[in-house]
This record gives sequence, structure tokens and C-alpha cells, in this order.
Amino acid sequence: MVKYPFALIATKRSTRQTCHMEFLYRSSCDRNVIVSVAVKHGMNRPSGFPGFILPCLGVHPVQGDPAQPRGALPEDLNSALPIIEKNAEQIVAIGEVGLDFTPRIVNTESGKELQRQVLIRQVEMAKQLNLPLNVHSRSAGRPTIHLLKELGVENALLHAFDGKPSVAMEGVRAGYFFSIPPSIIRSEQVRNEPKNITISADYIAKTKGIPVEQVIEVTTLNALRLFPKLKTFISHL
Ligand SMILES: [Zn+2]
Repeated sequence: MVKYPFALIATKRSTRQTCHMEFLYRSSCDRNVIVSVAVKHGMNRPSGFPGFILPCLGVHPVQGDPAQPRGALPEDLNSALPIIEKNAEQIVAIGEVGLDFTPRIVNTESGKELQRQVLIRQVEMAKQLNLPLNVHSRSAGRPTIHLLKELGVENALLHAFDGKPSVAMEGVRAGYFFSIPPSIIRSEQVRNEPKNITISADYIAKTKGIPVEQVIEVTTLNALRLFPKLKTFISHL
């Protein structure tokens, strides 16, 4: 069995920053689980995990004030680009990026098109930097998968995907990964946070009728396949 299992969970967008940071870290409160967690402190890395924090950078499809969220615009990306380029060496993926067609976020075709343009440019950037994508999609499962395929994306994680199973299978056939967040059990008490990642592992094990150790091993290997930069990191453990 792999000693240090990885798991990836869905994250929340940063509320104030144009850039969204996502980190992988080893949970201090759970058994050797390495998880991904959104950090709401903009560009400040949390202390306490030196050398153990691996960020992603990208412009999220939902921007603006949390009280009045709006879709991402090209100017959001323009202002974030220098930060992403400056940190390109340190990041393990471009993300979160994606499409969010929730009506309160975007309700016009032109608004959706602007979100698409922001995603397209970030896909191009990920290709140039040879980095995978961490993709958010809400009320936009089909358009997201289709756009990724159209753009020839090969390495992507779709988190908290809410599209139809048939559309998810299209993504699977294209080689994309899908994360299963703890919220899968739909409990008010269970939040999408690192310490709950074993709930996802148990759920998958039960659904597939396989031992949880196998789930942990396979998700670890999947994480290493999708985020090759983690290999250097894990060898230090
Ligand atoms: Zn998301």
C-alpha cells in the first residue's frame, strides 16, 4: 500500500482575490492524508507546512463581491497574468478555472462567452507551461467538457462536477479525472474540508465494493499521474 495517500477535494473560490490559490498539504488532523484545500488569504502561504504547500493559480469563473458575484472577464485575467507568470515555476496546476453558468452569476450569452474566453486563454497558458488544469464547472458540465475536448486538453481535474453521468463519461473517455468531495454524502455536518477526505474514500470503496486501501492507493497514483510535480515532493517524505 502507498504510504502517503493523496486526495483532492473541491475548493471554494477566493472571495476577494482575482487569483485563487489552492494548496496541497498533509493534514495534521488525519492519518497521513494529503489533501487539497482552498486558502482564502490571497497570495499568503499558510505557515506551518514549509515545503509542503503546493499552490495552483488561475482565474476562477466567478468573480466580484460575494454579495454580488459575476462571471470572469478578460480584464480579470489580464491583471492576474503577471502573478501567474511570475509564480509559474512554483505552481502544480492552473486552477481553479472553468465555467459557472449559474443564473445569478451569468445570465446572458455574452457573459457566458466572456467566461469561455477567460478559460480558453488559461488553457493555452497551461499548455505552454506544461501544467494540468484544475477545472470548476457548475451548471455548465456539458459546455465545459466539450470546450476542454475542443481545445485538445489532455490533463485536467474536474472537481465537484454536477453534470450528467453521460457527460462525465465523455470526460473520462477524454482522460480527465473527477474528484469526489466529502459533500457527496449530502450532510449538513460534513464540510468539504481536508479532515473529511476519508469520507470520500469510504464512499467510493462502498460504491465500488472494494477495500478502502485500494481507493487510497489508486487515488494517490492518479494524483501523481495528473500532477507530476508532486513526485519530487513525495520523494522527500
Ligand atoms: Zn470550484
